Amino acid sequence: MSIRIDLHTHSTASDGTLDPAELVRAAAAAGLDVVAITDHDTTDGWGPALRALPPGLRLVRGAELSCRWDGEQPPVSLHLLAYLFDPEHPELVAELARVRAARLARGERMVDLLRADGIGVDWPQILALAGGGTVGRPHIAQALIRAGLVTTTAEAFGPDWLGERYRLPKEDIDVFRAVRLVRAAGGVPVFAHPRASRRGRIVPDELIAELAAAGLVGLEADHEDHSPAERAHVRGLAAELGLLVTGSSDFHGSHKTVQLGAFTTGLDAYERIVAASSGVTEVA
Ligand code: AMP
Ligand code: ZN
Ligand code: FE
Ligand code: FE
Repeated sequence: MSIRIDLHTHSTASDGTLDPAELVRAAAAAGLDVVAITDHDTTDGWGPALRALPPGLRLVRGAELSCRWDGEQPPVSLHLLAYLFDPEHPELVAELARVRAARLARGERMVDLLRADGIGVDWPQILALAGGGTVGRPHIAQALIRAGLVTTTAEAFGPDWLGERYRLPKEDIDVFRAVRLVRAAGGVPVFAHPRASRRGRIVPDELIAELAAAGLVGLEADHEDHSPAERAHVRGLAAELGLLVTGSSDFHGSHKTVQLGAFTTGLDAYERIVAASSGVTEVA
């Protein structure tokens, strides 16, 4: 029997729908041996996930950092998974707090744009939907569903809604700074869904090579937003650059259709991540 490792999931600490305790219980129920909690720009879910950890499940504490690459204008947004970093590293803590605050301001401005077009969503309701977690477009999507304007989150991310028309940029972290900070905090940076072109613009392979030189450790290859050809390309690039490869569900509860363990990471890559970290330990 092979060990089942899912290194990318979200809880209510950001835009997932299971709270951290429910998330780890669901991970155990789904037959996972290892799960990482990787909420957007926060470590708030770590404590509750740890306290609820079912026997036999290993927890990798992590986050998904909202980053930008300034090599094109407007900057390209990208996501950096960070594993097992020190959650008290002052510069990283400050950067995450800044990004969360910017997300709040941006969410409120997106709601202003919707309201200016007569769309009946309101900011306090969206804050309530986020429940104190990192605010993101999935929360606004939820408000659009409740208002009967769209039927699914996927529809809310269409070009007429939050995908384009009402989308505003976030004030993300420069990706080189993010890689350096994660490493300085003893963490292990892995580029999330690097070829997910259906989500928006993607970065060139040359940038990934530069990030590898700057301390990037891995690439997420197996992800629902990658086609088989894109997965193969990411694997090839990782082999070329000496990076490890991960696979993960990017589970968001009912905000997405993907299930825990839909994609998984090999034991060797997982062991390399643990060995490369010095921030916090994995917990069994
Ligand atoms: P934001 O971080 O506010 O820009 O919102 C983007 C987040 O929404 C991503 O990190 C995903 O978690 C989620 N997301 C993006 N596209 C979709 C989609 N088509 N359906 C559901 N969730 C999505
Ligand atoms: Zn998300
Ligand atoms: Fe992501
Ligand atoms: Fe994610």
